[in-house]
Amino acid sequence: MRRLQAMLYRNRWLFSRRIIQLLIIAAFAVELPAGGYFAQGNLSSSVWFGIGLTDPYIWLQSLFAGAPLGKAALIGVAIVAVFYLLLGGRIYCSWVCPINLVTDLSYWVRQKLNIKSNFTLSKNLRVAILGLSLLLSLLSGTLAWETINPITLFQRELMWGSVAGATVLASIFLFDVFVTRRGWCSHICPVGAFYSELGRMGRLRVKATQLGACHGCAECIKVCPEPHVLAPVVAKKAAFVTSGDCTRCGACLDQCSTGALAMNLSFKKQGEFKGISVVSEH
Ligand code: SF4
Ligand code: SF4
Repeated sequence: MRRLQAMLYRNRWLFSRRIIQLLIIAAFAVELPAGGYFAQGNLSSSVWFGIGLTDPYIWLQSLFAGAPLGKAALIGVAIVAVFYLLLGGRIYCSWVCPINLVTDLSYWVRQKLNIKSNFTLSKNLRVAILGLSLLLSLLSGTLAWETINPITLFQRELMWGSVAGATVLASIFLFDVFVTRRGWCSHICPVGAFYSELGRMGRLRVKATQLGACHGCAECIKVCPEPHVLAPVVAKKAAFVTSGDCTRCGACLDQCSTGALAMNLSFKKQGEFKGISVVSEH
């Protein structure tokens, strides 16, 4: 029992994320005894207890496609945008997006099989794909990314077992295992790129708890899906992770054995922190 408790504690952020991710999937997929579902639609556009929520990236594509959303949908966009703007956009990636289940599994398999392949891809690639998707929306008058969005395909796969969904998911899995570490989410996906920009100033941040607690082992960097975001903190050049790329997954907190890191929600202006200058990557 103690072992189980210790294991759960060591992976508390991971288990918390998995519970939230699975509950979100269940809200769409599991029919209530009285009929209906907690949530209707999909992660791009859904209705929760009568409140419509719309992904701001969908809204942008729709705007470029020349079919602006109606007033109710705009309120839904605003709710979602403000949430991620305040907390940090890529919370979506590690706490909501179902593809994260696939890419985390890929990473786990890579580690187990000790696969080292790391095909170099620029992080700007996903920003370029984001721009391209908007341009294609403009030219085609459609929501260009939505036609191939694996997040939507994942839900279709779950509900209808679509062959297209299974093929895309398997491709992402194999790409991340054999081609490059965290290849899809860190280099390709425009949804992650969009939320990274949206939540650049998000106030939920990983922070160094005390001077001296970190002994520089860099174990946190090894498990971080976006290792560059932690480097300034481990090098004691920053007190907070400031990059919008941080997914707030908490893997670094699960990994850190000295308690040198914490997740901090603060709306105060962040400046000097016990003698360490906060460096911004904006
Ligand atoms: S980068 Fe894209 S696919 Fe990956 S977790 Fe974020 S939204 Fe999902
Ligand atoms: S810094 Fe920590 S919370 Fe942020 S992405 Fe990396 S491991 Fe996750």
